Amino acid sequence: MTIDEQVSTYYNMLLKRNAGEPEFHQAVAEVLDSLKIVLEKDPHYADYGLIQRLCEPERQLIFRVPWVDDDGMVQVNRGFRVQFNSALGPYKGGLRFHPSVNLGIIKFLGFEQIFKNSLTGLPIGGGKGGSDFDPKGKSDAEIMRFCQSFMTELHNHIGEYRDVPAGDIGVGAREIGYLFGQYRRLAGQHESGVLTGKGLTWGGSLVRKEATGYGLVYLTAEMLKAHGESLAGAKVIVSGSGNVAIYAIEKAQELGATVIGFSDSSGWIETPNGVDVAKLREIKEERRERAAVYCDEVEGAICHTDGSIWDLKADVALPCATQNELDGDHARALAANGVRFVAEGANMPSTPEAIEVFRAKGVYFAPGKAANAGGVATSALEMQQNASRDSWSFEYTDQRLHKIMSNIYRTIAATAKEYGHEGDYVLGANIAGFKKVADAMLAQGVI
Ligand code: NDP
Repeated sequence: MTIDEQVSTYYNMLLKRNAGEPEFHQAVAEVLDSLKIVLEKDPHYADYGLIQRLCEPERQLIFRVPWVDDDGMVQVNRGFRVQFNSALGPYKGGLRFHPSVNLGIIKFLGFEQIFKNSLTGLPIGGGKGGSDFDPKGKSDAEIMRFCQSFMTELHNHIGEYRDVPAGDIGVGAREIGYLFGQYRRLAGQHESGVLTGKGLTWGGSLVRKEATGYGLVYLTAEMLKAHGESLAGAKVIVSGSGNVAIYAIEKAQELGATVIGFSDSSGWIETPNGVDVAKLREIKEERRERAAVYCDEVEGAICHTDGSIWDLKADVALPCATQNELDGDHARALAANGVRFVAEGANMPSTPEAIEVFRAKGVYFAPGKAANAGGVATSALEMQQNASRDSWSFEYTDQRLHKIMSNIYRTIAATAKEYGHEGDYVLGANIAGFKKVADAMLAQGVI
């Protein structure tokens, strides 16, 4: 069998076994495509069912999450935790609370997480979890009761050496607080290493809140530098207005860029003079309001409910909202408008067609599993601080993050070059992330 036939056989088996999970299929297809070239060169990576084992989660948990709303009515949601691969360390990956969550989405996120965590160079495996619970419009008390019910089941399956969840869409500092409180109560001990993204007075790490956005911009700056460009004076589009987007905007502007637009699921906001980050943080983090409120409060900002943020004329685009938010047409518009660099803050925000367009048009493209790894990397630094009962300064932690992101850029660029595809960072990230996990899996036997 040729390598192409071998890989199609794996993929067709996966489609059959995981029917109705298009996001998971998409994530696996991209990685398998990159791995063909590795299997040509090093066929031993197909031995011992390695590829099939890599694509099958070690464990998938689905559970009922009943809770009582403020009207005294019982609500029932579904909870998930997919423990995908622990060859490099305990499962690590966030929890997402969003009505769109289903098993396929958690599996795609968990699968991506394996390679991302491997790229950080830190000893963490891949996992992901969440629920179809919608935190929007819920009272604090409802969020607390939901989190307590969710953790009542999840606590049986996690632990400092076993599985360490964190935040993602819809799960920020408030939710991590309620989840940790319930874990501590059920476990009867203050096991700080069981969750990351904690508050600073009870085991959290400085820079964790900023880490994904800052890390994204550190890697973007590194990519621009390698091609003789810089963020100073650049025009940047950032989609989303959540945790990743806010701190990407802050760091990009600190490095001299002007962020000319951001968004949420209701529309997008054009900011030709740059973003007032303090105001955006107040609206989103303190008041928990919609992004459109920004237009009422900041002069020069223009709110749009039609058209697309990707139609703006810019140099750099940083998609930071959600999966498949940037399609082929958006990619063509970006390239036509002069965007030369795209780096993903969100997980899989660009469709396969968009990535093809970027390749064809010579737009440098850093995939999420490399570009947004700063969040999980700093979570691993939080675990290190918890294990040594220490807490590091902002400057020191930020330096560590910066170094990790620069290393990731160097690794994916060097790997792409080694395999004869210089500048193809998708290939570089998939291959470099894969080889480390694959070597560990081969060394540890068929399990
Ligand atoms: P938040 O919940 O803080 O913010 C999410 C943002 O994306 C909001 O502006 C939200 O708008 C928007 N959004 C969510 N779903 C949709 C949708 N279906 N259509 C359009 N916009 C949407 O999440 P984060 O900032 O933490 O996460 C953003 C992305 O980054 C996700 O892909 C996540 O997996 C990824 N990521 C996050 C990390 C982290 O450390 N937090 C680490 C690595 C990756 P609205 O408020 O209207 O819903």
